[in-house]
Amino acid sequence: MPPSSQVNGNKSLTSEIHQTLLRWWGFDTFRPLQAEAISAAIHGRDSVVVLPTGGGKSLCYQLPPLLSQTTDIIISPLVSLMKDQVDSLEAIGYPAAAIHSGLSVNERRKTYQRLRSGVLRLLFIAPERLFNSNLIETLSHLQIQRFAIDEAHCISQWGHDFRPEYRQLSTLREHFPQASFHAYTATATPPVRSDIAEQLHLKNPEIFVGTFDRPNLTYRVIQRTNRTTQILEILGRHSKEASIVYCISRRETERLAKHLTASGLLAHPYHAGLDPKKRHRTQEAFAKESLDIVVATVAFGMGIDRSNVRLVLHTGLPKSLEAYQQETGRAGRDGLAAECALLYSPADVFSWEALIRRGAESSELPEAESQQLIDSQIVQLQRMRRYAQAARCRHAFLSEHFGQPYGISNCKNCDVCLGETTNLADSNTVAQKIISCVARVGERFGVRHLCEVLRGAQTAPIQRHGHHCLSTYGILKNFDQRMCENLVHQLLDQEYLSRSHGDRPVVMLNEKSWEILRNQRDVTLLEPRLKNPIGSQKDSDDWDQVDRKLFDHLRQWRRKIADERGKPAWTILDDRALRSIAREKPTTSASLLNCRGIGEKRLADHGAAILKMIKQHNLESE
Ligand code: ADP
Repeated sequence: MPPSSQVNGNKSLTSEIHQTLLRWWGFDTFRPLQAEAISAAIHGRDSVVVLPTGGGKSLCYQLPPLLSQTTDIIISPLVSLMKDQVDSLEAIGYPAAAIHSGLSVNERRKTYQRLRSGVLRLLFIAPERLFNSNLIETLSHLQIQRFAIDEAHCISQWGHDFRPEYRQLSTLREHFPQASFHAYTATATPPVRSDIAEQLHLKNPEIFVGTFDRPNLTYRVIQRTNRTTQILEILGRHSKEASIVYCISRRETERLAKHLTASGLLAHPYHAGLDPKKRHRTQEAFAKESLDIVVATVAFGMGIDRSNVRLVLHTGLPKSLEAYQQETGRAGRDGLAAECALLYSPADVFSWEALIRRGAESSELPEAESQQLIDSQIVQLQRMRRYAQAARCRHAFLSEHFGQPYGISNCKNCDVCLGETTNLADSNTVAQKIISCVARVGERFGVRHLCEVLRGAQTAPIQRHGHHCLSTYGILKNFDQRMCENLVHQLLDQEYLSRSHGDRPVVMLNEKSWEILRNQRDVTLLEPRLKNPIGSQKDSDDWDQVDRKLFDHLRQWRRKIADERGKPAWTILDDRALRSIAREKPTTSASLLNCRGIGEKRLADHGAAILKMIKQHNLESE
């Protein structure tokens, strides 16, 4: 009997779904496409669900088995992801378990017992475990109705994260012909989407594709002039909040973490070269909120589920927009306002180009393939660069890159739409001064020396080459060295100047440089100075009427509980729930139940403690 026949008619099904959402999770509305995806699952129709990070994919497979009283299987690629999900489900009293290599014999036995007795609603498992044990047989006896494949893009060779072990999943349908299959992913271009459906042998799947835009994120691109000062300033906007600072190299992560810690901001480095135990400790401290700042390479990624990351700061240019979308996707998963700041220097483009070439040369690929690899990576890099340089809405740029028209003329949530970027008032004159200096030094020097001449510095090479006698010596002395270099890079970046290849690249003139000198072309340079950013409206709305002091008390309490239970803090209660409590300040269980994220289990577990804290807080504030 299909599970759907256990409920009468669509109307009562819809109301039953809503009641379940409220009772278990304490949420009163669905996010876009959740209701549709849940309905397809309940009716046993195969589906492919593409929702952005933080879009709420998990709920789509967590809710249906509660209604159909079945045990559903979730295929997930990472043990840490499974564990986090089981923890957050246990926090609401939801019977779920995971089978993975970290279980003791006893734990495994207990999980199998729970599985066989039918009490589990969800079982998480990695694909290689599914096929390398007798699990398939056990599951066959249990008449499994539904499989959800999380991070389903891993099955596609065309995706960016192909995992060969996912390929075995294509045989699942033969083992379970009666079951429906549901693929979930945050990143799927149309060819990857069709590949997923084909590989899993989906039958007429329903395809749900959400909006890729993340309206709660404030995007900023800031001209990098003084990295450390700028990083400290940006982190200062997020005091006591979770922040991920991405660096390009491992060495940088260690150096910066040390510097931040010495400046009074506790920060840990994280990269693939660190001892796994140390890495694990950092990840855990971040999840339990005893650590708020992680300075990482892109190795800090999948499996980081902390939902209240308020800042993702890139200290250098990412390699592609796909990587940028994924890394910034870790901000604001709870839907509250969060900032994604990118410190950009056009110099990064040159560093990446060199790295890409070196990487391809050492890959031992045949020459044609190696060249193909270089070309495709350079194209991706150029798109990233265009994003960083563009003086247009960042939300629109990203949405369009992922094939979705944006349709809003002013997002009010990026540096460009907030009016934070400023063009240098006399861009043309400054550009002409720089270009004439390139000509005067005979197109034989690099950016640093060029800027030293422009600023009128007294260095040995300037004396040696007689550059202190040039007419362009000191004509930009009102800029400091970093700002001056930034301006030269902006010109190189827009191809108004050229640069030679090799270890000691020199700045050279090109056709466009001459056009600028002859006043035949206008130049726009961005002001490389820092400006105080304007806060987003979304951020002030999210804090509206929230008693910050009470919110801080609640956070401290949550950290303590997380520590006692050894669970990630956000699985106890997320920031949205805490803000809702600190806004409403309920004094009875019934009114606490009206706060976001408080379902029956959480009320039973934490209601008394929370109400006591509010009472105490109210007394203190009188
Ligand atoms: P994804 O897997 O798509 O990245 P998650 O399933 O982790 O996203 O959900 C992100 C956050 O959104 C979680 O904190 C989750 O509790 C919350 N969430 C999911 N659905 C809803 C909803 N309908 N209402 C409010 N919050 C929701």
